Amino acid sequence: MNLYTALRAGFPADLDTTAIDHDGALYSWRDLDSGSALLANWLARLDLPAGSRVAVHTDKSVEALMLYLAVLRAGFVYLPLNPAYQASELEHFITDAEPAVVVCAGRNFGWISKLAFQRGVRWVFTLNDDRTGTLLDRAAQMPTVNEPVAREPADLAAILYTSGTTGRSKGAMLSHGNLLSNAQVLKTFWDWRSDDVLLHALPIFHVHGLFIASHGALLSGSRMLWFNKFDAPAVARRLPEATVFMGVPTLYVRLLQEKTLDTRRMRLFISGSAPLLIETWTQWQARTGHLILERYGMSETLMLTSNPCRPADGERVGGTVGPALPDVGLRVLRDDGTACDVGEIGHVQVCGPGVFAGYWRMPEKTAEEFTADGWFKTGDVGRLDAKGYLTLIGRSKDLIISGGFNVYPAEVEGFLNELPGVGESAVIGVPHADFGEAVVAVITPVGEPDTEALIHELKARIAGFKVPKRIVVVAELPRNAMGKVQKKSLRERYAGLLA
Ligand code: ATP
Ligand code: MG
Repeated sequence: MNLYTALRAGFPADLDTTAIDHDGALYSWRDLDSGSALLANWLARLDLPAGSRVAVHTDKSVEALMLYLAVLRAGFVYLPLNPAYQASELEHFITDAEPAVVVCAGRNFGWISKLAFQRGVRWVFTLNDDRTGTLLDRAAQMPTVNEPVAREPADLAAILYTSGTTGRSKGAMLSHGNLLSNAQVLKTFWDWRSDDVLLHALPIFHVHGLFIASHGALLSGSRMLWFNKFDAPAVARRLPEATVFMGVPTLYVRLLQEKTLDTRRMRLFISGSAPLLIETWTQWQARTGHLILERYGMSETLMLTSNPCRPADGERVGGTVGPALPDVGLRVLRDDGTACDVGEIGHVQVCGPGVFAGYWRMPEKTAEEFTADGWFKTGDVGRLDAKGYLTLIGRSKDLIISGGFNVYPAEVEGFLNELPGVGESAVIGVPHADFGEAVVAVITPVGEPDTEALIHELKARIAGFKVPKRIVVVAELPRNAMGKVQKKSLRERYAGLLA
C-alpha cells in the first residue's frame, strides 16, 4: 500500500478541522490532502522515469511537508537535504543521488539551478517558507484530487542521508513498508490519540522530525502546532496547548532556560537522536514533573528501542533508551560474535521490518554492515540490563584503545560532567607515540575550571588509563544540525595535541 494512503486513513472524518496551526495560520486536513494532491498531480505531469528522486533543499514549512506527501502519492522517491548544505556538499548529494527534480529556496535558485542543470537534473523549482515559489505557482493549476500510485511495501519511498556524524553521509534507502510499519508500532507504543496535539519544532530533513513526529500525528489524526524553526520562548508560549513534544537533547536544555514551562496538558515528552544527559532528565522532572521518554533509532532502521509510555508496559528509566520495540530484534555481541551477558558492553545489532534495504549505490558498504544472518550492525555500543533495557555507551568508531585498554568515552564524560567547572564534555582519542591513542577531554567551562585539578579529581574516581592526559577548554562543542557532537572534527582538530 502507498504510505500516503495509510496516513490518509488516519485523518479525522471531519476534514475541515485544523490539522496544522502554524503561528495562527490554520491548515485543515482537507488542505493537507488537496495541497499534496495538487503537487502530486504536477509531479505526475513532468513525465519522470519510475523511481525518480525528488531532492528537497528548502527551509521548513507546511508546504514542504505537503511536498513530501505529494512525492509519496506520485510514487517517486523523496530526498530531503539539510538547507544549511552549501555548494560543495550539495554537489556531492546531487552527483550521488542523481535526482530528476530539485526543489530549493528562491534565494538559492541561482547557484543551485546551475549546479543541478550541469549534472543532468531536468527540473529545478523554488519553494519558500512564505507560501511562494515556482513550485506552488505551477501546481496551483492542477486538480485537487489525486489517486495515490499503487506501491508495494518494498518499493522505495525515501532516501535519507545519515547525519554525517562519523564520516561522509550515506543515503539510507527506506521503503513504504519500512516507514509504515514503524509508524504503526509507534502509534500503539506511544499511545497516540486523535485528541493529541503535537508541538512540532524539529527540522524535517531528518528521520526524527519528518517521519517519527509527522507520521505519528498524521496517522493518528492529531493536530500539530508547527514551528518552522525552534525558538525556545515561542515554543514555551505554546507549550500549554500541547500534549506531545519531541526534541533532541539540546532543545530540552534550551527550554530549561525559560522562566515558565506550563506543561499542564502535556502527556508525553520524547527525546532522541543524541544522548540525553541524566542531569537534563532529572532537571526536567524537577521542573515539570515529567519523565522524558528517551528512545533510540537511526536513519537506516527507524526507531529501534523506546522507554515505555504506558505504565502497563513498564517503568521509564532515565539514562537508558528502553527495551526493543515490539517488532525489533536486538542483540549485543562481543567482538568475537558471541552474545554478551547482562550488563556487559558490546556491539548493538538489530533486525526487523523497519530496517532499510541498503545504502544508495553502496552495495559493498551495505554488505559490510549486515551480518551473515541478516542483522544490521548499528555501529553503536551498549549494554542490556536484566529487563532488556538498552543503555548506549557510544559509537564503536569513538571507542578509544589506549595502551591496549578499551576506554568508553561516555563513561569518562559521565564522571567529568559531575565535576564543578565542567559544562559539557566530549572525550576523544588522539594519536600518541606510547599508547597508540591517548584520552583527551574537550570541555565547555562553567566559570574558570582548573584543568589540572580536574585531572587530579578524576584520578581518584576512575582507573588511570581512562583519565584524560589533557583537558582542553572550548567555548562550544561542535555539533551538527541534530545537536550531535562531532567527535570526528574534534579528533582532527586535536590530532597533533600530544604528538
Ligand atoms: P552517520 O551515520 O553519518 O555517522 P549518524 O549516525 O549520526 O551519522 P543518524 O542516522 O541521524 O546519523 O543517527 C543515528 C545515530 O544517532 C545512532 O546510531 C546513535 O548513535 C545516535 N542516537 C540516536 N538516538 C540516540 C539516543 N537516544 N541516545 C544516544 N544516541 C542516539
Ligand atoms: Mg550512523
